[in-house]
Amino acid sequence: MTKFLFSKVIILLLFTTNIQAYRFTSDFLNGFYWQSFPVQMQIFVNENSQGSLLSSLVNQAVNAWESEVGREIYSVPTSYNVGSSFGNNIRWSKNFAAETGFDPSSTLAVTTRRTSGTYIGQVEVVLNAEFPGMLTNSGQILYRTILHELGHVIGLDHSEVSQVVMASSLTSATSLQGDDSLGVNAVVDEALYRQSIGFTSELSSSDEKNSPAACGSVDLGGGDGGGLPNILLSLFLGFILILSPKVLRPTRNFFPDQLT
Ligand SMILES: [Zn+2]
Repeated sequence: MTKFLFSKVIILLLFTTNIQAYRFTSDFLNGFYWQSFPVQMQIFVNENSQGSLLSSLVNQAVNAWESEVGREIYSVPTSYNVGSSFGNNIRWSKNFAAETGFDPSSTLAVTTRRTSGTYIGQVEVVLNAEFPGMLTNSGQILYRTILHELGHVIGLDHSEVSQVVMASSLTSATSLQGDDSLGVNAVVDEALYRQSIGFTSELSSSDEKNSPAACGSVDLGGGDGGGLPNILLSLFLGFILILSPKVLRPTRNFFPDQLT
């Protein structure tokens, strides 16, 4: 327990003193974690024709994250399902606003993590099929989005560093950057430690367990470079996302099993 508290203090020190760094999701900071690795996920599509591209890109992104950690952290079958999603999943939405509450013209995807006891109980990644280029992966936009959302799945929040995969707005980066690598190694190390001691979050029996963490990934159409106005705008919108009650405490109809 002492070691855990020590590691938590270190995490909090890093979190509060070095803003130019990766961040953990609030549920992870509150002691919730994946019970075991790899995290089992499934791919869902609306039509068969969408399956092979999505499956290929998800597995490419999985390999990218895992190569930074040197171990298996996600398990996603190359096969895919057609129809309604369940369990830990990554899926398309053709009706993004109604299903997530986010603006479909500026939001590429939303990841929701629900807790169960002291563990992460379910995660869902909803991809915006209405956003131009997403279904066809034009300019690698779908791949870059998936790479970003898988970071949320494992417990990374938006980094304070710009031009990294876990930045709050989509960057031109098509591969994980140094800060992303530091982040995933830190979150996986901490999760493995909690698993090894059977750590229980102080909040596991409180109402907090019904407050899933969610993150919207926003694209501002800045393209390569961005420029100062775009950077300022992205920080501003990111702040809104972070402060939004819908982001911090999505209502129950935000839960994937209550979506149609
Ligand atoms: Zn995000």
